[in-house]
Amino acid sequence: MILDGKAVSEKRLDLLKEEIDESGLYPRLATVIVGDDPASRMYVRMKHRACERVHIGSVGIELPETANTEDVLDAVRRLNRDQDIHGILVQLPMPGRIDTEKVIEAVAPGKDVDGYNPFNLGKLFSGHPVFAPCTPRGIITLLDEYGIDISGAHAVVAGRSIDVGRPMAALLLNRDATVTICHSRTKDLAGELARADILVSAIGKARFIGPEMVKPGAAVVDVGINHVDGKLCGDVDFDRVAEKAAAITPVPGGVGPMTIATLMENTFTAAKRIICSRVV
Ligand code: NAD
Repeated sequence: MILDGKAVSEKRLDLLKEEIDESGLYPRLATVIVGDDPASRMYVRMKHRACERVHIGSVGIELPETANTEDVLDAVRRLNRDQDIHGILVQLPMPGRIDTEKVIEAVAPGKDVDGYNPFNLGKLFSGHPVFAPCTPRGIITLLDEYGIDISGAHAVVAGRSIDVGRPMAALLLNRDATVTICHSRTKDLAGELARADILVSAIGKARFIGPEMVKPGAAVVDVGINHVDGKLCGDVDFDRVAEKAAAITPVPGGVGPMTIATLMENTFTAAKRIICSRVV
């Protein structure tokens, strides 16, 4: 079974647009980007296009490559105060000289639609998430959409980043999976992965995971985005693993579209929370 993130995300975006139109609210997302990295610029453009599609307003703040931490913090603080902005997304990675942690901590938790602020990560890890990071949240939605049982499953997550691996583990744990987190120092990665009912790979190594690392009948979720000979591929050797897994996400067309759809959903949630709390 192919876990078709593109189709599921299209369906969810259509529903979200209807919901936004019916709500009479006008959610607005602000993006902040520093410098000219082409990949980051492309991701930001995709997010603005998705906003247009679901009738979320969007503004883009572009800071030059020469910007320093204080410049980025100023932009974020201005957006925090702006009553017409409901979601703030700071595009990562930022140039190395910027103190990324300080910037993430400056985003108001109620507008932190990426879910990276320590307050939101704390809520997630305590089992009461408000805004969970979009990629892992989108993966849970995709698994649910295809009826894959999470409760009681042994889930193995490869990668421990703050945007994917760690929050993925927390979300799976919140749904009663037994979770193992693997990373670059894990002694027997292949052995750990081969025990997974649900395998999530977010390591960023092209076709690194072969069929020998996959349990027959597993659900395999490939977060990796790698470029090989000008083409996109995931961390998983798709053709060979697909023969052994019960369910698998393609790259592209799997996790990526779910990430953007979830960002839109988080932005609408933020708008509802902010606007309704003002009314009360
Ligand atoms: P990262 O570089 O921050 O983290 C990579 C993780 O992989 C680290 O925790 C590291 O310990 C682990 N790792 C590296 N080599 C390993 C190995 N040989 N064995 C076990 N673990 C190993 O990356 P990230 O931000 O988490 O992203 C991971 C991948 O997912 C990248 O390819 C990225 O482009 C992609 N990504 C995709 C989406 C999407 O929406 N599809 C979103 C975010 C990231």
